Amino acid sequence: MAAEIRTFPCLSDNFGYLIHDPATKATASVDAPEAAPIIKALEREGWTLTDILITHHHHDHVGGVAELKRKYGCRVVAPHDKTTKIADVDLRVAHGDVIKVGSLLARVLETPGHTLDHISYVFDNEKALFAADTLFSIGCGRVFEGTYPMMWESLLKLRVLPDDFNLYCGHEYTASNIKFAQTIEPDNAALKARAEEVSRLRAAGKPTIPVSLGNEKKTNVFLRADEPSVAASLRMKGAGAAEIFAELRERKNKS
Ligand SMILES: [Zn+2]
Repeated sequence: MAAEIRTFPCLSDNFGYLIHDPATKATASVDAPEAAPIIKALEREGWTLTDILITHHHHDHVGGVAELKRKYGCRVVAPHDKTTKIADVDLRVAHGDVIKVGSLLARVLETPGHTLDHISYVFDNEKALFAADTLFSIGCGRVFEGTYPMMWESLLKLRVLPDDFNLYCGHEYTASNIKFAQTIEPDNAALKARAEEVSRLRAAGKPTIPVSLGNEKKTNVFLRADEPSVAASLRMKGAGAAEIFAELRERKNKS
């Protein structure tokens, strides 16, 4: 039986995600921005929370953990503390660890840059990548704790995943990310098509997630920092990819 994934809004622009294993009835929440919408989604499905998979220490990703743990007694999985302590954790994971949600397997990738502790979860059998604030659709997280080369390396770890994997990211920022990406790649036909799709989805009140990694590789300028056409657009021909990535990120910060 295939895993079921549910996507719903939390806080102002975070995504809530549940992944459910029909074989064992195990259900994980990827991050816990706030408890109420997660409880509502669980009750709507008749699922019981068994695990919370935390990606990083920011409050809008862990704010609901204490209440959910009290209510369900679920296991809390989190990265090793690199800067800030995350409370209520049962299992600390590092790069290459594989954890089980019922019979589902999630591989841990360390993807630092946005924060030093940031990890992403890859469910290979389900072709699902939960990248939180490392990779957004047509964007990437701000580099708060790490360095630009570190964040670029993290994006490369995600870019090698197959094209038919789906990206589930931490925030609904896609429309504003597209506006920025089009200033760098105005002639990117795949980006134009994605822009039209996103306008339709947002007008219908629907999320722009999930999106295939294959589509992101063609449209997300932050994953394309080593494309000669992106270097040319920035007038940075000959510069290294990490340097170009840094320029993109700084321009986005100011946009
Ligand atoms: Zn964050």
